[in-house]
Amino acid sequence: MIEQQAPGATIGILGGGQLGKMLAMAAAQLGYRVHIYAPEAQSCAADVCAAHTRADFDDVAALRKFATSVDVITYEFENVPVAPLKEIAGLKPLFPPLAALDVTQDRRSEKAFAQAQGLTTAPWAPVTSADELAAALGQIGAPAILKTARHGYDGKGQVRIDDAGQAEAAWAEIGAQPAILEGLVRFAHEFSILLARGQDGAMVAYPSPENRHAEGILRTSSLPAPAEVIAQAALALPQAQRLAHALDYVGILAVEFFACDQGPVFNEMAPRVHNSGHWTIEGAQTSQFENHIRAICGLPLGATALTAAAVEMTNLIGADVEQAPALLAAPGAHLHLYGKGEASPGRKMGHVTRVQPTA
Ligand code: AMP
Repeated sequence: MIEQQAPGATIGILGGGQLGKMLAMAAAQLGYRVHIYAPEAQSCAADVCAAHTRADFDDVAALRKFATSVDVITYEFENVPVAPLKEIAGLKPLFPPLAALDVTQDRRSEKAFAQAQGLTTAPWAPVTSADELAAALGQIGAPAILKTARHGYDGKGQVRIDDAGQAEAAWAEIGAQPAILEGLVRFAHEFSILLARGQDGAMVAYPSPENRHAEGILRTSSLPAPAEVIAQAALALPQAQRLAHALDYVGILAVEFFACDQGPVFNEMAPRVHNSGHWTIEGAQTSQFENHIRAICGLPLGATALTAAAVEMTNLIGADVEQAPALLAAPGAHLHLYGKGEASPGRKMGHVTRVQPTA
């Protein structure tokens, strides 16, 4: 059944960061109101919303009250605990489905799910002790990356191991918690598949950007991507669609890949709008934020084609935000500042999208 939301309906968003803010702005354009639910005192998304609940994600009473006050629920943060959400399941439609949160919150279930759907991953092994780490290193070899199973993002909770002698220190550095050891992938490029799936199962996908990371954090997404990325993205798209279909997914799904000699290698997926899709606000016919809102509200999905000859999105991380006045003076540069307060190293403060118009 398609749960269509009429203009004036209220969308509840779990999480109050910049993704929630940009979702709320897209929702407003389509005539919806937004209610943000977030635990932090400061929520940049709440600054542009009709209502704000400040409560913890495991506060079932607050979640229940929130659910009764909105018409549809979504999330912009994939680490929202699943168990409390199960308590309120059925009160209001919730998209993307809880199964997507469940699978992606833990790198072990995420990789196993991707493999079960026929995708190629880096060699990996679950690790729950220093002894298991030593055994996994024996099996996978070095160099390898030790990643916490849960709550890792933007390169946090990750340590590279170049030889077995570094294993013990790496285990201590990640806090001796459940993890995976992953073989280092030799890749030529990184790219992402961004697709939207509607409640009726219809899917649209964006042209894939080439993504460049530094210190585990996305720096730029550029389009058009090099020919090799375009060729590998054509192979990766049906794979990402398979993941979406298997989850009966609704909304934007982001799947990150490495372009390797043997073809696309799955890295990770996010059940939400994604930083590598920020370029779509100015660079695509319909932004990822609008398509997410359309999907969860039961509306037809919008076209995803590029609207320019070339587009590049650059994140403004930490002190990069000081470039803002100069960026405002540059023709074709679209500045987005998230209003997050103090800049600190590694903190995403905004982004700029440079659009090169069609000749
Ligand atoms: P992740 O949080 O797992 O997406 O990792 C962040 C970034 O670290 C990736 O986008 C890559 O640039 C790099 N990285 C992560 N895992 C690997 C790997 N197995 N081999 C090579 N680079 C990796």
